[in-house]
Amino acid sequence: MTSTQEIDKSSVPDSSGHFGPYGGCYVPETLMTCLQELTRAYEKAKAEPEFMATWHHYLKTYAGRPTGLYFAENMTRKLGGARIYLKREDLLHTGAHKINNVLGQILLAKRLGKERIIAETGAGQHGVATATVCAKFGMECVIYMGEVDMERQALNVFRMRLCGAEVRGVKTGQRTLKDAVNEAMRDWVASSGNTHYILGSALGAHPFPMMVRDFHSVIGQETRTQIMEAEGRLPDEMVACVGGGSNAIGFFHEFLEDPSVRLVGVEAGGRGISQGEHAARFQGGKMGVLQGCKTYILQNADGQIEPTHSISAGLDYAAIGPEHAWYRDLGRIEYAYASDDDVLKAFKFLCQTEGILPALESTHAIVYAMERAPQMAPEAILCVNLSGRGDKDVSEIERVLKEMGENAS
Ligand SMILES: *Cc1c(COP(=O)(O)O)cnc(C)c1O
Repeated sequence: MTSTQEIDKSSVPDSSGHFGPYGGCYVPETLMTCLQELTRAYEKAKAEPEFMATWHHYLKTYAGRPTGLYFAENMTRKLGGARIYLKREDLLHTGAHKINNVLGQILLAKRLGKERIIAETGAGQHGVATATVCAKFGMECVIYMGEVDMERQALNVFRMRLCGAEVRGVKTGQRTLKDAVNEAMRDWVASSGNTHYILGSALGAHPFPMMVRDFHSVIGQETRTQIMEAEGRLPDEMVACVGGGSNAIGFFHEFLEDPSVRLVGVEAGGRGISQGEHAARFQGGKMGVLQGCKTYILQNADGQIEPTHSISAGLDYAAIGPEHAWYRDLGRIEYAYASDDDVLKAFKFLCQTEGILPALESTHAIVYAMERAPQMAPEAILCVNLSGRGDKDVSEIERVLKEMGENAS
């Protein structure tokens, strides 16, 4: 392990949005002004107790915070090692951690006098969370989604439309998440006068990686209080799945300066670590620029973005949030990956031992916990962020199990 004593989490990002060499603001000149305006407005809002109190009010009364930190007694006994706790983000409104960020950003948009919200979505979870808060706060809502994703995630398209959102199918490129982000940015260049873009992960141009991280840091802040109440000390290890990296950085941020707490992010290992078969950016990725920031990206020698694959749509993206790249360089956060096959096994395991159906994304962290807990002492504490619930995934899981000739048990 590194000398984590040197970590000063308040020093990143710097004023230009850099996490070491990563992050920054790589956008067309036309977007610079609106990103700078957003940065100033956010810094001001964050310092105002009234803004923060309003956000906390809706987190509590609308989203369902605080979420529990649940001692997974059966799982602990079965695995025979560390005491396992699950942070229950799966119990939040709309089914995952994403509501923390969208509530924060829509309040900011209101403050800025915006009337219209746009967002990108891949699997549809961020689109659903955004459409939901737009209904609640009476904002016009346009969601950009690749046409391929719209077909794969038809139920989420329907949920967004039920909340009054307009879902715009994106026909360019591979017609998936990356193309939806491009379209949303194009819209924003033309509409930023009355429109706020709610970005969905700790990614993109400054201030998004910082702002999204801050809005999710509530996860780790609660975890700290809750584990102190339950055990009287900090956990030995914490683990979370990493797509863009928002649930993980939100879970870890409060603990970055505690060297005794090991932090592990789990990426999507897909069908194996070979080209096009996974989305583990730290397994073969390189530094590059994608959609507004410098970070680790899966790309070929010519800098072309490689196709990715994961059983979980929410982890299926070629870039990782820039703050993760920085803390990996520093050795403060370590990264593992989980394969699709192991994710399916862990999904069944958690359903059967604890009666909890995790999202396939979150199940990547469960895979790690199942391997790691037995190697740890019985008095050790391992906390897992259960970023979302699996209801959205059950029909896909049923299909995959059928294909494999397996049944639900
Ligand atoms: C979207 C999503 C993720 C991946 O996004 P991060 O920004 O990496 O957190 C993980 N888990 C769930 C349940 C999600 O919906």
